[in-house]
Amino acid sequence: MIYDTIIIGKGPAGISAAVYLVRSGRSVLVLGKDAGALERAESIENYYGFPENVSGAELALRGIAQAERLGVTVLSEEILHLGMDDVWSVKTTEGLYSTKTILIATGKSRTSINVPGFEQYRGKGISFCVTCDGFFYRGKKLALLGAGSYAANEYSELLAFSEDITVFTNGAEITGSFPKNASIVTEKITAFTGEDSVSAITTAEGTVHAIQGVFVALGTAGAASFAATVGVELSGTDIVIDAQHMTNIPGVFAAGDCTGGFLQIAKAVSDGAHAAKGINSYLKNIS
Ligand SMILES: Cc1cc2nc3c(=O)[nH]c(=O)nc-3n(C[C@H](O)[C@H](O)[C@H](O)COP(=O)(O)OP(=O)(O)OC[C@H]3O[C@@H](n4cnc5c(N)ncnc54)[C@H](O)[C@@H]3O)c2cc1C
Repeated sequence: MIYDTIIIGKGPAGISAAVYLVRSGRSVLVLGKDAGALERAESIENYYGFPENVSGAELALRGIAQAERLGVTVLSEEILHLGMDDVWSVKTTEGLYSTKTILIATGKSRTSINVPGFEQYRGKGISFCVTCDGFFYRGKKLALLGAGSYAANEYSELLAFSEDITVFTNGAEITGSFPKNASIVTEKITAFTGEDSVSAITTAEGTVHAIQGVFVALGTAGAASFAATVGVELSGTDIVIDAQHMTNIPGVFAAGDCTGGFLQIAKAVSDGAHAAKGINSYLKNIS
């Protein structure tokens, strides 16, 4: 089946868009790994319609229940990769889905680590996108930062460019399925060093690992990594959108915290509604 829209994220932005789209007769699939920022919001007092405060977890459950009642399918799956052939493909930990449009509603990206040298070499040997930059690192000695399913997926993509890859988990436990022979360093990273570009990673016990490039796949793929993979324009880590909430890539829309601005539920819900309107117009034009 080819969906009209696949929404990445089941937070306020994604669910709000889903509600509008399904009520316009569109086939919608929402994929999200958890309740996003709401999961950590203990008490919300500034959102419309709750005279008693409400917990973020409760608000998230209510939003999802509302969307499901209207006929939206909401699945708890982690998205690993986006691709484009005749239609968009969305690869998750559980399967592969096809869609005419994508709405990125993944919340605020947190794919950085607070280690000396990391920010300095971002874009100078430190990359966030195997699909975009892997080619430049053919046959080189590479580091891959991460430990989960997203990192394992990036590892398999990176193998097309180099077989000399060391996985650095930065102290995290491996949860992704890496090949048995993968070289893995679990110590905490203490520094990225180099000259014009990064050339070494130092770990907690003082070991200096010479490398020629670093790919970052920490945690789960966020807005910035999806954007980079499909060529969506970013401003810092925020996705750039037009008045219809469409990115520079036709058919790819974004809403909520991942587009920056006022990082609040009210804005995310409004974004979702506007994005649904934009997606509807786009679908009308291509049909
Ligand atoms: C501690 C805390 C307290 C807050 N308190 C308030 C408050 O009182 N009032 C207020 O208005 N706002 C508050 N906020 C902000 C508010 O929660 C956010 O602005 C809002 O949730 C943004 O909605 P969103 O849909 O854009 O993103 P999120 O709610 O963050 O949802 C993002 C979704 O994307 C999914 N996702 C991301 N990456 C992937 C992937 N690779 N695969 C699958 N799914 C993925 C997540 O699982 C999640 O479902 C608070 C935030 C925090 C952290």
